[in-house]
Amino acid sequence: MKNMHILAIPYPLQGHVMPLMEATRCFTTNGLKVTFVNTEFIHKKLMGASLEIDCPSDLMQLVSIPDGMEPCEDRNDHGKLTKAMFQLMPAKLEELINDINQNDDEKITCIVADYCMGWVLRVARKMGIRLALFCPSSAAVLAVTMSLQKLMDDQVINGRSGEILKHQMVQLSPTMPLMDPANFVWVCVGDAETNQIMFDSLFLEAKDAAEAADHIICNSSMELEPGAFTLFPKMLPIGPLLATNKSTRQVGHFWKEDSTCLTWLDQQPVCSVIYVAFGSITIFNQLQFEELALGLEDTKMPFLWVVRPGPSGNMDYVYPSGFLDRIGSRGKILSWAPQQEVLNHPSVACFMSHCGWNSTMEGVSNGVPFLCWPYFADQFFNKTYICDIWKTGVGLNKDGTGIVTRGEIKSKVEQLVNNNIHKANVLNLKEKLTEGLREGNSSNKNLNKFIDWLKEG
Ligand code: UDP
Repeated sequence: MKNMHILAIPYPLQGHVMPLMEATRCFTTNGLKVTFVNTEFIHKKLMGASLEIDCPSDLMQLVSIPDGMEPCEDRNDHGKLTKAMFQLMPAKLEELINDINQNDDEKITCIVADYCMGWVLRVARKMGIRLALFCPSSAAVLAVTMSLQKLMDDQVINGRSGEILKHQMVQLSPTMPLMDPANFVWVCVGDAETNQIMFDSLFLEAKDAAEAADHIICNSSMELEPGAFTLFPKMLPIGPLLATNKSTRQVGHFWKEDSTCLTWLDQQPVCSVIYVAFGSITIFNQLQFEELALGLEDTKMPFLWVVRPGPSGNMDYVYPSGFLDRIGSRGKILSWAPQQEVLNHPSVACFMSHCGWNSTMEGVSNGVPFLCWPYFADQFFNKTYICDIWKTGVGLNKDGTGIVTRGEIKSKVEQLVNNNIHKANVLNLKEKLTEGLREGNSSNKNLNKFIDWLKEG
């Protein structure tokens, strides 16, 4: 049999690299060789966080190519980064593949690209390599991208700029939840120029790639999103990926995990701790930060709180006066958690989250109810799934000044922990997800189908 060699390429953000690494673990487990291509910037971060890959080194290699930005430039400017990547990376990827293909036994037989890297389609076509896409967001969000033409035809969005023309909820199919166009990712990433770049270089490209790709694999499950998967049967749910891999340890952290929190969790009563984490991008202003601290204090419950750098990019938040002394060992604050292990810990009662898709999947597959605090883009839609469709959590609302107050935090935490319904719903869903992963059931069947396709070469 010919040696199969898969090239995997994620969008350079934590919430994209990590799940694609999980997906490629499924490939190496099946004996397939993977070359994982990061941008140089991300590659350095992964190496700095002591990445450990638990598969034979001859099956998985990590390589990098430049992203088109200068080393000192701000990669949080997603418009600029997307444009730079779009301009430079196709040629660099082609060079890389040509280099690898020098060796006949090593030739790339298939590319699995994040759908946010739609430009890869042109490289794959030019080089005659088969292409599959990977979806690290909800399938519903990719379904929006795949429905762009319909949204243009229905004059919901402007076909050139992506701007919203009809400010009313849309439903892509009768079995899908209502969606607010104001939360479509390309209309809320940044200023008008950034949004335009995201629409042109990311979403329109993603739409073309999704139409052309042979398969689209999703870190989701039929049980969670039946409407989206029925609308676009080309999307194959193979998740939740961490559960698929039966792993509690995630690979691909950009920062070193502080595992001392696990010992701290061991010392807390069962189902007593609020886990507070808002992913890798969310930023609070100082006022909101203080209000959150005081709200956690008011709950009187133990809490594990991941505090990431503030607006300046530094750890410059100031805690309310006397807060740290009053909290003592009741609260544990850290800068990066081993999230999957935390959510899998019996002491965790609930998850205060920004509702990034990975966090959403991890919470649900560990049976943890949510306190939803979405920050931007698809997180608002993920909140709809959690609060309105699956009913596995409650939302935190802002007051008239745009702040989630300490009173709101205390009251929603009490509402969630004193009412067993959300916990019961999430445990029920967890059971369904586990069922979907069993031999012959939906996610398992889809993954096997996909692996068979990869092996066809
Ligand atoms: N994560 C983690 N430790 C933390 C916070 C987050 O390992 O302290 C992981 C989390 O498990 C998830 C990813 O980082 O897999 C964040 O992805 P998500 O889609 O939830 O949010 P994003 O960072 O993309 O906004």
